[in-house]
Amino acid sequence: QRQKESEVVQEFKLDPDNELRFEVESKEKATLELKSGLAEVFGTEIVKGKVYTFGGGSKIAVFTWQGCLLELRGKTEAAYVARETPMIIYLNTHAGLEQIRKKADSDETKRGPIAMVVGPTDVGKSTVCKLLLNYAVRMGRRPIYVDLDVGQGQLSIPGTIGAMAIERPADVEEGFSQVCPLIYHYGYKEPGSNVMLYNLLVTKLAQTVAERMEANRQNAVSGVIINTCGWIKGQGYQMLIHAAKAFEVDLIIVLDQERLYNELVRDLPETVKVVFQPKSGGVVERSRQARIEARDQRIREYFYGSAAQFYPHSFEVRFSDVKIFKIGAPALPDSLMPLGMKAEDQLTKLVTVQPSQQLLHHLISISMAESGDDDIIQTNVTGFICVNNVDLERQMLTVLSPQPRPLPRTRLLISDIQYMDSH
Ligand code: ADP
Repeated sequence: QRQKESEVVQEFKLDPDNELRFEVESKEKATLELKSGLAEVFGTEIVKGKVYTFGGGSKIAVFTWQGCLLELRGKTEAAYVARETPMIIYLNTHAGLEQIRKKADSDETKRGPIAMVVGPTDVGKSTVCKLLLNYAVRMGRRPIYVDLDVGQGQLSIPGTIGAMAIERPADVEEGFSQVCPLIYHYGYKEPGSNVMLYNLLVTKLAQTVAERMEANRQNAVSGVIINTCGWIKGQGYQMLIHAAKAFEVDLIIVLDQERLYNELVRDLPETVKVVFQPKSGGVVERSRQARIEARDQRIREYFYGSAAQFYPHSFEVRFSDVKIFKIGAPALPDSLMPLGMKAEDQLTKLVTVQPSQQLLHHLISISMAESGDDDIIQTNVTGFICVNNVDLERQMLTVLSPQPRPLPRTRLLISDIQYMDSH
């Protein structure tokens, strides 16, 4: 009965400023078509008559400023039209950012806004970033998107942070096209697993983004939008402060948490504008399990594409042809450390790893570093492989890779994150 009901074709007539919200049942699909009027999905306009397909678990909002007619097919949960949304608030934020960009347009000494979106998990941080980026790029801007969320990042696979210049609006079905993102290897899905390393990489990323803005005036004028982790207490809070300082942010948008807002106002210099904004009622809280699945899906998409349209390669790599490292040595008490070193230095130390069964199913980042002289930790990575087999006898690893052999570089960084390739 229920199944039949949910397969029915549904039509929704939306008044101006309304939004259709729906969730696709897990392992199912739903399609959306704009019949008339104008509408957008998280800031990207949808095209009339085009059929958009969304995979299982997708949570979508179709917003209209002007009113529209939509057709929805497939197995969706709780499809409904909401009249109350914070979209006008988000649009005003965009208008404010655009004002700063206009000033930079006519004054070479100024740069565009650097804005950071913060808040607990599941308040729509990534969605607000997407919205602001899409609105900017639709006006001809080329903003830089920085993603510091190591758990649910949108630019790359979990366990990394990175940045990318946004050239066109996000694809409604697939998100931002990943053209040359700049990615650094962190190796854990929690920012708290190695705070020293996380902060070091955030500082490095901030420097690289600043250099890009120096070199490219259009990026400099357009500014930066920074997405962050949902860990906002204790050390997590300190890490947000660190990121705000490293990137020299001008604006912090705090979603949904007044306490966090008050703390940031208290602790940051007055030059940093902090604003409090509501979350959208459409953002659904995800269970721990849903978050784990989303992480797995990101990795699967990296290797197989969003609709399983890619065929990754599987090949062998000789132990002797690569150098595998991990970051962080076991902590020693200060009394046992060599003179002049502190125990925490161990956390950002590069340690050689001998291949063993322990590598099995781990993700590995391929560093751009070309020689042992490079600072591998602070060098960006070019791609990822996954260890599917370790043959100690033949001294060979079998790896899953989106690219055919050989590996583009030989310095590899092992991640704590595992992926079971079930294909
Ligand atoms: P956060 O970055 O804070 O963890 P996200 O931006 O990833 O939160 O949003 C969580 C989920 O809610 C995403 O799947 C997103 O697609 C969905 N979502 C966001 N805004 C809406 C909305 N207005 N209606 C329905 N779903 C939404």
